[in-house]
Amino acid sequence: MEPLTLHTPLTSLPGVGPAREKALDKLGLRTVADLLAYFPRDYEDRTLRESIAACPLEEPVCFSALVAEPFRTSYVRRGMELTKGRIVDGTGQVEVTFFNQSYVRSALTPGETYCFYGKLTGAGRRRQMINPVFEREGEGRVTGGIVPVYPLTAGITAKRLTSWQRLAAQCVPQIQETLPEDLRRTCRLAPAAFSYRAIHFPQSWEDLAKARRRLMFEELFCLNLGLTLIRGRRGEQTAVPFLRQDLDAFLSGLPFTLTDAQLRSAREAAADLKQPVPMNRLLQGDVGSGKTVVAAACAYLAWANGCQTALMAPTELLAQQHVKTLSDLLGHTGMRVSLLTGSMTAAQKRACREKLAAGEIDLIVGTHALLSEPVAFRRLALVITDEQHRFGVDQRAALSAKSGGEERPHVLVMSATPIPRTLALMIYGDLDLSVIDQLPPGRTPVDTMLIGGDKRQRLYGFVRKQVGLGRQVYLVCPAVDQEDPAGMKAAEQYGRQLQREVFPDLRVAIVHGKLKAKEKQQVMEDFAAGRIDVLVSTTVIEVGVDVPNASLMIVEDADRFGLSQLHQLRGRVGRGKHQSYCVLISDNRNEQTRKRLKTLCATTDGFAIAEEDLKLRGPGDFFGARQHGLPQLKLASLEGDMRLLHEAQDAARAVLAQDPDLQNHAPLRQRVEQLFRENGDIFN
Ligand code: ADP
Ligand code: MG
Repeated sequence: MEPLTLHTPLTSLPGVGPAREKALDKLGLRTVADLLAYFPRDYEDRTLRESIAACPLEEPVCFSALVAEPFRTSYVRRGMELTKGRIVDGTGQVEVTFFNQSYVRSALTPGETYCFYGKLTGAGRRRQMINPVFEREGEGRVTGGIVPVYPLTAGITAKRLTSWQRLAAQCVPQIQETLPEDLRRTCRLAPAAFSYRAIHFPQSWEDLAKARRRLMFEELFCLNLGLTLIRGRRGEQTAVPFLRQDLDAFLSGLPFTLTDAQLRSAREAAADLKQPVPMNRLLQGDVGSGKTVVAAACAYLAWANGCQTALMAPTELLAQQHVKTLSDLLGHTGMRVSLLTGSMTAAQKRACREKLAAGEIDLIVGTHALLSEPVAFRRLALVITDEQHRFGVDQRAALSAKSGGEERPHVLVMSATPIPRTLALMIYGDLDLSVIDQLPPGRTPVDTMLIGGDKRQRLYGFVRKQVGLGRQVYLVCPAVDQEDPAGMKAAEQYGRQLQREVFPDLRVAIVHGKLKAKEKQQVMEDFAAGRIDVLVSTTVIEVGVDVPNASLMIVEDADRFGLSQLHQLRGRVGRGKHQSYCVLISDNRNEQTRKRLKTLCATTDGFAIAEEDLKLRGPGDFFGARQHGLPQLKLASLEGDMRLLHEAQDAARAVLAQDPDLQNHAPLRQRVEQLFRENGDIFN
């Protein structure tokens, strides 16, 4: 075999044929370098214990022992053979049983010493072990150390992957050091080669901790560098400056006065828009804080400066809602607001596109349909996206590219997910931040409570009472229908049961993501118009829906949701003048879970909730399954490593101050490019 290099394709490794090549490819592994960057998800402690007697019971342990007698196989029944024998050391003995592995008889020679790894049960002379892993003492392949556990896929066994990793390990010295030496010294970071070896095959837990720290730091550091570079690149782009800055005509026609926080945010945005470089601002505000009107102010400025605005929403429902709200907010100015979504007919879409191209629409609101090819603008200069975390950076870029010509549009991103400020600045390092930290006047906080499923009958009574008062009720389930994972309340079935058995006299409707857009829209319209009393749904109503008459939000299996998500759901009520309630139903007895849910009952401050969520669950809720357009981090978790994060941030700043393009840090530059591969060329 040729000597391995980092570039060697994995097909050159023993045992990698077309099938395994494909399986490896699914894991994103093509070369030896990929393999080395494929880190264990866990480790097993197979370091040798002193003696049999020193081994704790009921947990995996590794020890060496002598085979005291020949192993014997007995036939129990068809398909069931037991091979048993006894192993001993100076402190005790263990009866070992293997199921259907009669070959071990010849592998375990009486009088010889082996290392065993497995779980001990039964005490004293009756210690037992079933199906242990074993090898001859001193071999040190699967015992006697800390053994990596890799995430696997069908067709790739742990044993194989580990053996390939052992081969790949010989290339570790070829890995280039990306971190400047003085940085490694001041931040006490282990060298690259050491870290790549120790992350796979650590000699001790201490070494593993050192390796992890260094590799996590590297990730966070490169993430910071990349984001800062993106921000810098933006500075070189040009945009239409909105020189007309007068908002009076817009403000005086509104049905309400802006809060101080709204006004401040609008001013911050306006100041950006005046510049000949693209604005890139994140507008953050709790549910109901009134972000829409700030967006409207920006769109108004675009119009006053002869330009068009596009607003992108993550769902059709939200887009429709926005068109309605924005038409109300901007109607008095003479601006022409219009909708473009995928569910419109071809003819409607064509008509809309023609108007856009002709400049007869000033503000277009839509979903991803806005990104589709044939949509062209006359003079697009502002792009607004709602619910930022659902759009990737690249999607924002796609829309930006629609402005045509040299100039890029200004970008305003609205997010109702209150991300803690420190984290937001880090994550959205390429965005400036405005925060609406104040609710419009006259809101009564939503009364929130946590109950068990046994109280459901009383809850039904409460639903009746609210409906009797003329109010409306949301009931949210974690699943759409019963095909979904076991035991979760499903909107479809539960909704029908409520219709038939519980509230046959009330108007109960069901809405979820599997319905056609038209049907969904109809249900939402009916609910908004007060033609529905109880709306059973999934989280499709999570964002944006605005029905001030709704006063009760019930969430089934509340423990299935993140706190921030529950807070979003709760934000659907308490939008009008009526006292509103949020009832969380959960039978989960887990203490941690209950504590989480109680947090929600105790506070209505979205930022405090987000902080709590972050502490308890990690950022998965913000960033997990959702597209956030940021590179995937392998090791570092943004919440657990705040200290490291800040160190990495400072380090990135210092390095860029010396070397703005990383010209003198070639390996580092390469790593950053790699990390941001999906975001295009960040150095141009
Ligand atoms: P969100 O930030 O959740 O998108 P919206 O923009 O939908 O919030 O505003 C929530 C509600 O508050 C809307 O019904 C809106 O008309 C109202 N609202 C917004 N700003 C004010 C204000 N300054 N005074 C009174 N009501 C306001
Ligand atoms: Mg909104």
